[in-house]
Amino acid sequence: MNLLNKIPKVDKVLGWAAIETLLNEYPRPMVLAAVRTSLDTIRSEILTGRMPADGLDETSIACKVRKALERASTPGLRRVINGTGVVLHTNLGRAPLAPALRNSMLDAAFEYSTLEFNLETGTRGSRAVHVEKLLSDLTGAEAAVVVNNNAAAVLLALSALAKGKEVIVSRGELVEIGGSFRIPEVMEQSGATLREVGATNRTHARDYRAAIGAETALLLKVHTSNFAQVGFITQVSTEELVAIGRESALPVMVDAGSGTLVDLSAYGLAGETMVQEYLQAGADLVTFSGDKLLGGPQAGIIVGKRRFLDPMKKHPLMRALRVDKVTLATLEGTLRLYRDEREALQQIPSLRMMTVSAEELATRARSAVRRLRRGLPATVTVKALPGHSQVGGGTFPLLELPTTLISVAVDGLSAQQLEQQLRSGALPIIGRISQGLLLLDVRTLADKDLPEIIAALQKIATSA
Ligand SMILES: *Cc1c(COP(=O)(O)O)cnc(C)c1O
Repeated sequence: MNLLNKIPKVDKVLGWAAIETLLNEYPRPMVLAAVRTSLDTIRSEILTGRMPADGLDETSIACKVRKALERASTPGLRRVINGTGVVLHTNLGRAPLAPALRNSMLDAAFEYSTLEFNLETGTRGSRAVHVEKLLSDLTGAEAAVVVNNNAAAVLLALSALAKGKEVIVSRGELVEIGGSFRIPEVMEQSGATLREVGATNRTHARDYRAAIGAETALLLKVHTSNFAQVGFITQVSTEELVAIGRESALPVMVDAGSGTLVDLSAYGLAGETMVQEYLQAGADLVTFSGDKLLGGPQAGIIVGKRRFLDPMKKHPLMRALRVDKVTLATLEGTLRLYRDEREALQQIPSLRMMTVSAEELATRARSAVRRLRRGLPATVTVKALPGHSQVGGGTFPLLELPTTLISVAVDGLSAQQLEQQLRSGALPIIGRISQGLLLLDVRTLADKDLPEIIAALQKIATSA
């Protein structure tokens, strides 16, 4: 109780010189809120029997208020350094865009643009044209539609083609992608009815044929994404499914999930069917994400036959799911890079990180270790060691790409404490802990990240 009485009143704190300085830097309501939060924290510390961590004097409280203000004025969504080695890390924003897109992205965001304006006729144009022709050229599809993400693409396609009717899907493909995307649930939202066929591990052509009836609107094949089956398994190929569809004049759609436009098998990334291969196999529609293997902005892309895409373009949901101008500008820029495959592989950061050789990663790690050692005190131990990274983004679930990791240890800190401190800096550095070591994977680190990592570790080491 004695201690509680010692907590100064808000008005008194606001009069302190140190707080007046803060009033010159921050809006008054923000300072007031920070003072209140700081005093509340102190009060609850006392009430729960803990001594206020930083004391009750003017300097300590002012320091607490300044920290609260700094926290409140840091944006929640901000840059981090990805040291996890997961290239398409969903929690860290999936694909970073190609640096070459920076100007078109800024122009789209900060200037007026040709979003829906036809420069030749001087009249209203369509926002779809900017990417539709590119998508057709790249995939061989007749037409294309772009929406907010692949979940939206599936929702729109099912709503436009199968509302009130049945969609046949193999039980082995009814997966949850994470972040609660489940095909049965999306289907329910679209008004289509799911007709499951086969068993979890085996679905045969005859299962689809037996399920087709007057109510069937669509045959759907779903990429199993972050899930893989091994052993006694059979799934019907796209070609077979197309043949079954043709027998009953039913369209076949593939939710390709990640969707790639380039063959990555030469880089140890085998087994992913390209979007154009699904179409060549006869699929009427293919949906995929913009920010997974494609390496572009968050978007959902539907390519396929015009007669199935036209109803989607006119569907009321289209307006609700359409993408904004910044997405269109960056998607167009990304797709333009794909006109020359080598260009795409070089310029799109996620593709470069996935296809870089193990030798180059080892060289980069050795050079990074040298630079770190040179820039850091002897209390920081830095080593290179072999390891594995993952592609992420629901792709290549079983694949472990050989990489070189940098392990960092700081005297006086556990790996957990170091991980937490790296994560809490002005530019957060996200690593992972394995076998008691804090690890940073060079695969997802850029050259420009290194000085930032050195600066952060210097700061941590001096206060450890
Ligand atoms: C990732 C994924 C989705 C969802 O795509 P988003 O672009 O994240 O909405 C849907 N289906 C499959 C098979 C996926 O892999």
